[in-house]
Amino acid sequence: MRMGVLAMQGAYKEHISILDDLDVEAVEIRNKEDLKDIDGLIIPGGESTTMGKLINTLDLYDDLKEKIEGGLPVWGTCAGMILLAKNIYNDDTKHLATMDIEVMRNAYGRQLGSFYVKGEVKGINNEVEMVFIRAPYIKEVGEGVEVLSKVDGNIVAARQKNMLVTSFHPELTNDLTMHKYFLEMVKNLVYTKDYIMQ
Ligand code: GLN
Repeated sequence: MRMGVLAMQGAYKEHISILDDLDVEAVEIRNKEDLKDIDGLIIPGGESTTMGKLINTLDLYDDLKEKIEGGLPVWGTCAGMILLAKNIYNDDTKHLATMDIEVMRNAYGRQLGSFYVKGEVKGINNEVEMVFIRAPYIKEVGEGVEVLSKVDGNIVAARQKNMLVTSFHPELTNDLTMHKYFLEMVKNLVYTKDYIMQ
């Protein structure tokens, strides 16, 4: 399996290091060529405005959107989740806008917004270690979206078809379970054009 990791900005090296630990080939995505022949894509945490601008500057926007809408399995962590959201409650910007969720940026406040908890995620047996850093949470989900986790009543993980999002950063912990969950999801998804029609 070849896993792409969007390497514009943010915590992409940490994701790659976890993929290495799991013996999964990781490809740093910086241009259109890199997008060829990947089985899945991780969009890391960082700063969504900066990443969004870089995606446009590097002319990746159309290819990324087309691939994700075409069924490429994708996992957005934190800022990655903001990039995938169709709506951002407290920001008029739209980025890739492929997933039927409305997110709130910096939902826990700007300064005191970083914390660590262990929480439950549907489909994972152990409690998952969750690091939140100026994180968003999901305010609203559309019909086809499955909520996978809530912390203090707020949605922090969800899935819609080939798209997985988490508010937290599993790549900043030693807990590999969220990565294993996504790798399993990638294996189970059939990446075909027909997927768009479902
Ligand atoms: N606060 C950042 C944003 O809005 C996200 C933070 C993160 O990815 N850790 O883009």
